[in-house]
Amino acid sequence: MSAKIIDGKEVAKSIKLSLKPRIAALKEKGIVPGLAAVLVGDNPASQTYVNSKAKACDRLGMYSEVIRQPASLSQEELVEIIESLNANPKIHGFLVQSPLPEQIDEPEITVHISPEKDVDGFHPFNVGQMLIGRGKLLPCTPHGIIKLLEYYDISTEGKEAVVVGRSNIVGKPVAALLMQKGKMANATVTIAHSRTSNLSEVCKRADILIAAIGRPNFISADMVKEGAVVIDVGINRVDDPDTEKGYRLVGDVDFEAVKEKASYITPVPGGVGPMTIAMLLSNTVTAAENIGS
Ligand code: NDP
Repeated sequence: MSAKIIDGKEVAKSIKLSLKPRIAALKEKGIVPGLAAVLVGDNPASQTYVNSKAKACDRLGMYSEVIRQPASLSQEELVEIIESLNANPKIHGFLVQSPLPEQIDEPEITVHISPEKDVDGFHPFNVGQMLIGRGKLLPCTPHGIIKLLEYYDISTEGKEAVVVGRSNIVGKPVAALLMQKGKMANATVTIAHSRTSNLSEVCKRADILIAAIGRPNFISADMVKEGAVVIDVGINRVDDPDTEKGYRLVGDVDFEAVKEKASYITPVPGGVGPMTIAMLLSNTVTAAENIGS
């Protein structure tokens, strides 16, 4: 069997289209949803992410700002920037792009972001709300994964879901969403990580296997049950002298082999990645609606 390829670009496009009438309704009230990104240092991947977030805002007629700061920025200076964004009426949502230089205490920074403007959904208040099933601003990548499943009518009800990876931004929150009581949830969830024994056996139990590891092609076909739905969150650069840039992007899943066994699979690029930005825009519109109402 060859898996159906989940087209994240198509789903992201439909999410962005659905935002248009909401943005128009806000504009009628004189509100232009605004997103700001704070970029500290000159990490090339972060610059690319931040630029594509700003471009996506422009295309939808939203306001965007990128606040670029040197890698030497202090914790206190970053907190000041956050406080000014909390108070800025043109900005309804903002994020501080990861990774941050080592002098910055990232979890401490997150606490300073107003929960109403926390469009990454990382503030402990929003994390708690998500956990009790009342989240308004859900973390973008995990929420994007749920939207992909929903779009392809893939039921999660009563399914064995295995999430490999326990980061605060992907693994833990996607597990939390899948275990909720309700639609596009109600799964039986296992979280695996680098200390999991018999990882292969654990993965093989999965009806829905989510890989958020950060290791190229780590999930091999023999770790996947026949007919499983495989969601690959990983974005890894591997050297490729045949390409102009000298590298290409691959996921955490051995796509070519696993697609012969899975029923659905996300490609990298073009799977989960586009959803992250779409959900960020969606959260910004939601934040503008919440603040404006
Ligand atoms: P982290 O590095 O924070 O977490 C990786 C997780 O994988 C950890 O829990 C780690 O376990 C686990 N892990 C590492 N090695 C193994 C192993 N050998 N066996 C089992 N588990 C292992 O990564 P993130 O969650 O931030 O990101 C994961 C991947 O997703 C990256 O490639 C990242 O670039 C990508 N990503 C993609 C996004 C998108 O929009 N598509 C958004 C965010 C991330 P332990 O906790 O024990 O160390």
